[in-house]
Amino acid sequence: MLEINTVTKNNDSSAKYAYNYTYLPPLAMIETLPSSEDFSARPLWIALVARSVLNILINAIMIGINKEDGIAKYMEKLLTALKDSTSELKADAKAALLKSIESELKEQGFPTSLAKIEAFLKGVVESFAQSVTKETLNDLIEIIMKLGALSGKATSLKDYDKLFQFIPLPAISQNFQEDSEFAAMRVAGPNPLMIEQVKTLHGKLEVTESHYQAVMGKEDSLTKALSEGRLYLADYTVFNGALNGSFPDTQKFNYAPLALFVVPLGKTSLMPVAIQYNLQSNGQTVIFTPNDGYDWLIAKTLVQIADGNFHEAVSHLGRTHLFIEPFVMATHNQLSEKHPLRILMTPHFEGTLAINNAAQGSLIASGGGVDKLLSSSIDQSRVFAIQGAQSYLLNVRTSTLKQTLKQRGVDDVSLLPDYPYRDDALLVWDAIEVWVSNYINYYYKSDQAVENDSQLKAWVEELISHNGGRVNNIGQNNSITKRDELIELITQVYFTSSAQHAAVNFPQEDIMSYTPAIPLAGYIPITKNGGATETDFLRLLPPLDKAQSQLELVYTLGSVYYTTLGDYGDSYFTDPTIKNYLTEFQQELVKIEAEINKRNQTRRPYKYLLPSRIPQSINI
Ligand code: MN
Repeated sequence: MLEINTVTKNNDSSAKYAYNYTYLPPLAMIETLPSSEDFSARPLWIALVARSVLNILINAIMIGINKEDGIAKYMEKLLTALKDSTSELKADAKAALLKSIESELKEQGFPTSLAKIEAFLKGVVESFAQSVTKETLNDLIEIIMKLGALSGKATSLKDYDKLFQFIPLPAISQNFQEDSEFAAMRVAGPNPLMIEQVKTLHGKLEVTESHYQAVMGKEDSLTKALSEGRLYLADYTVFNGALNGSFPDTQKFNYAPLALFVVPLGKTSLMPVAIQYNLQSNGQTVIFTPNDGYDWLIAKTLVQIADGNFHEAVSHLGRTHLFIEPFVMATHNQLSEKHPLRILMTPHFEGTLAINNAAQGSLIASGGGVDKLLSSSIDQSRVFAIQGAQSYLLNVRTSTLKQTLKQRGVDDVSLLPDYPYRDDALLVWDAIEVWVSNYINYYYKSDQAVENDSQLKAWVEELISHNGGRVNNIGQNNSITKRDELIELITQVYFTSSAQHAAVNFPQEDIMSYTPAIPLAGYIPITKNGGATETDFLRLLPPLDKAQSQLELVYTLGSVYYTTLGDYGDSYFTDPTIKNYLTEFQQELVKIEAEINKRNQTRRPYKYLLPSRIPQSINI
């Protein structure tokens, strides 16, 4: 067994990581990514990303090819376009792709149906992806970005369906306009983190009893729902005054709606009641309800746009990716390679510095994907991400899963029975907490042992230092002297880097890729109080080229599952007691998997917190 206080100081070969505070000022990030942290050292990760990127490449090629000339012609055109598209690849990558094509043709024969074409292309993707290097991956992404196919505004929703040729059309395309689906997004969507129980009607909300009863009927009332704790609000007024973006070529708009939901009498699931916002012409406050036709659909879409922006900047980037970075830095810098906490946490930090470093240099840089797709100017989006990160980094102790559920007033299952994210997240949190407790209580036999661990003390000091992680409110007054404090913090970091990131990252693939359901920006100012038409709705939605870019970005980010929660490999831990605790954790995860699958038979299925779909770390 490792003795905490006899391990040598961290003077091993790995140099300390230097901080940078100007990439996303004033957040603490790594100055220069060392090669050991880079994805080049992780060929399996590259192969997984390559698979997603190749799916996107083939999808983009297919969008531009007419199917109507018959299967054989279609296949020939596809093959030609696929080969042409690779003309900018390096010779060895090109040769590898041609070899994959030849061997699949040999194995499967020349495809004679659409299904066989799909099987053929899947075969090519699988075999070629294995040989893709980081350099080729970058080349492929460049090629896709030049492959624009659709353009202009949609004239019907069907136009958006055409973006899904090789990538399957998400199920949400069929029902996103339903009110029940709109409500489900609040508790089981990409950003199931906004709703707060309404405690008083005095405030920004101007919804009246007559609005309420027009939707819910006379048996229920706003005051009754309030007093029974059945009212919930999704508040996006943080977007008031946000700077609108216009990159690369079109004016975009932010919206700052308030959306009111209720658990109807005798029901278990939320339903929307009303949406309030200010007109962008004269500031007038308007309120729409489910009885309002296209005005209601537009109001819901404004909520979805605001939610998509909050999701990417705050919930995803800020509160998972950027939140974890200082912990990775301090762990590397202050805990020796043999320190039990470094051993426990290293797998949960794999790829995080690399993906964040890549993001700050391209995705969230001026002219990158966020600039192109989100509502705000890039500076504004970066400020939202930074503020999102700081809202947790400066309040670590009060930003745990259980604390935030409580703060939002959504922790009472009897009041809000249908909340899949909450219920599944708590299962996973509790399992992680038991595993972390067993682990910590084994290495630290008393609170005194925690207090005596000089490396741990240095770790906390680096985390809270202005020249370090710039974190605040950890442990008790920014010091950790008790086992319970350490267990809580490590559980929080572990849960955030695994489960919480999975909950916000993976709905990108099959929900956010269908742009009309969650447009990342709106394209008209909202100036009408009523009388909206389908044309207004379609003009609000992103043009088709932006929708294609949204699909390509969020599909890629949402389809890479590198590593699995609780799988450390057979020989990672060597101590037999720890191995037993790990086995218990793994068995618990299997039980949770079964429990969530069981829950999914009696609720709208929510799969993002199935342990088998939770990677160990933030790496995409
Ligand atoms: Mn992510």
